[in-house]
Amino acid sequence: MEKEIFVTKSSLPAMEDYVNEISDIWESHWLTNMGIKHKTLQSLLKDYLEVENVDLLTNGHMALELSIQALNLQGEIITTPFTFASTTHAIVRNGLTPVFCDINPDDFTIDANKIEALITDRTSAILSVHVYGNVCDVDAIQAIAAKYGLKVIYDAAHAFGVKYKGKGIGSFGDVSCFSFHATKVFNTIEGGAVCFGDKNKDFGLDIYRLKNFGIRNAEVVDAVGANARMNEFCAAMGICNLKRIDVCLKKRKRLVEEYRSRLSDTDGLHLSEPQKDVQQNYAYFPIVIDEKRFGATRNEVLAKLAGHNIFPRKYFYPLTNTFDAFHGRFDVDKTPTALRISKRVLTLPLYEELDITDVARISDIVRSCKK
Ligand SMILES: *Cc1c(COP(=O)(O)O)cnc(C)c1O
Repeated sequence: MEKEIFVTKSSLPAMEDYVNEISDIWESHWLTNMGIKHKTLQSLLKDYLEVENVDLLTNGHMALELSIQALNLQGEIITTPFTFASTTHAIVRNGLTPVFCDINPDDFTIDANKIEALITDRTSAILSVHVYGNVCDVDAIQAIAAKYGLKVIYDAAHAFGVKYKGKGIGSFGDVSCFSFHATKVFNTIEGGAVCFGDKNKDFGLDIYRLKNFGIRNAEVVDAVGANARMNEFCAAMGICNLKRIDVCLKKRKRLVEEYRSRLSDTDGLHLSEPQKDVQQNYAYFPIVIDEKRFGATRNEVLAKLAGHNIFPRKYFYPLTNTFDAFHGRFDVDKTPTALRISKRVLTLPLYEELDITDVARISDIVRSCKK
């Protein structure tokens, strides 16, 4: 039996390092509610991400959901269907309507040229995703938002550590939401964050209140908040993992270069190319399989790899605008590029501890499917 290789494997610090980090919690008995670990991680991340403000949350989904609430958005939000369920659910769970915009075939982010045609008098914001760590066309999106008075939220769940034109990716838009879920490049077991500029200080106060039931002070509760605080054990994991993040990114880079060197000249395989002015984080390695030129379908490649105990994932299939939960409410034909790519994409295994020889083996199996 060949060993099992999944699409990802969580990064962990040395166990002694974590035990050492959490040991003072036994003295303080302070387990959650913005304790010392929370404060420490918050300040470390502000520096690492090069942003003006960070607040920590229990997960990336609540970062999105509470951001929409804190910005007091109404009506419609223009967004992408080529994403994880969370992005769309955050809009719908706030009682708003997602309006789906198509994506670019090259970097899979929202197609900024198609946004303006979707704006109505009910549009309040654009919520787009730096998918796979690829940066959205932030300049064009900002120009559209300014012209129509819209808010901009970035789902930066995939983009930890990414920089655009030398600036931390979390400093674009009104808010950027990160996920620190176990499967992400940087994890706090479960966790997330919102990043925002100094001009949005009130937003920061609102998020802080909303993540703690809307409690303003001991006697005033003036918002219908949730419980979305990051606990001390998760923050401690973040402190430990952050010490190792640069080593981790370097390893990922080597693995991505290996995939690239073995797969880039294969006719019928489209790889996501490095973007101009972007410092990458090597979070995912998606390939898009054009079955006409490659001679095999995405599902055939998936099955072949599964036969070798290798389990990549169809990120992102199905598109969120086709979810059963929405009972056919959205017309998928309005996002043809996203539909075409979702049927052909495969995200190959990529994580810190993946062996470079396994990258070679996985690449060879993929190439062997070509007819
Ligand atoms: C992981 C992810 C989220 C949600 O983050 P959680 O921390 O799991 O709640 C949101 N959007 C995208 C694109 C993601 O990949």
